Amino acid sequence: MTPLDELSAKQKYSFNKLQKRLRRCAGKAIEDFNMIEHGDKVMVCLSGGKDSYAMLDILRYLQKVAPIRFDLVAVNLDQKQPGFPAHVLPEYLDSQGVDYQIVNEDTYSIVKEKVPEGKTTCSLCSRLRRGILYRTATELGATKIALGHHRDDMLETLFLNMFYGGKLKSMPPKLVSDDGKQMVIRPLAYCAEKDIARYAELMAFPIIPCNLCGSQENLQRKVIKQMLQQWDKQHPGRIENMARALQSVTPSHLADPNLFDFVGLKTQDQPYEGGDIGFDQPEVESQPQRDEAQRLQIVQLT
Ligand code: SF4
Repeated sequence: MTPLDELSAKQKYSFNKLQKRLRRCAGKAIEDFNMIEHGDKVMVCLSGGKDSYAMLDILRYLQKVAPIRFDLVAVNLDQKQPGFPAHVLPEYLDSQGVDYQIVNEDTYSIVKEKVPEGKTTCSLCSRLRRGILYRTATELGATKIALGHHRDDMLETLFLNMFYGGKLKSMPPKLVSDDGKQMVIRPLAYCAEKDIARYAELMAFPIIPCNLCGSQENLQRKVIKQMLQQWDKQHPGRIENMARALQSVTPSHLADPNLFDFVGLKTQDQPYEGGDIGFDQPEVESQPQRDEAQRLQIVQLT
């Protein structure tokens, strides 16, 4: 019996809506960024967390209904962390009939040996993991590497880079790997974390905890996540607006001379598109994301 079997008719209706929303968001991101093309072999990186399970599930659905043909191969890297339940993913993937490969590399020991006690191990661990995944993609003949980062990861990264790195930089939906040879895609770029979490719970994915290495959770990311969640609670729609902002950038209204030629900016006799209008008031839309209760309240008041 899965959580899905226990849902009432109304809850099943909500689940169907949730599933459709996730599939639609992923399909739209794939289309907008031309993430997957006919004939691609997509290596789906599966960590055992909710996001990567949801990504695999959604990509398998899209594979069935898409007008193009592409292959999927799931890859898990067993980093030999103590207590890693190595049987969980193969059992799940076998039960789903998914083509997969488990890569065994003891990065845990390398990290423990190289990083002094008490220091965070994540950056070396991620570097090692990245190299292994790129190598595996080449060995498998994969043309795309799919990662399970979602919309909220992208926003958290944006704020992390602003707050701690002094950079306006997020996590792109599609990019070329640092060795230049691989194309990395993030099909969940438009999907909300809360939707993915609910979906993973209802689908009863066999989640593997991500703290097996004993490393401290990234505290800065945790703080940013809490800040965003708090904002969303107080101002529903704010996260959606910020996510939309990532896709609507006006370089002439920022201050990076590498993105916009401020030095060569000249006046002209004709109207200048994008030119200053008064004191450049921020463009505030009239509450595009009101929830139903707020909307009804307004209707009653008018
Ligand atoms: S939490 Fe552990 S497994 Fe994950 S990146 Fe950090 S060191 Fe590696």
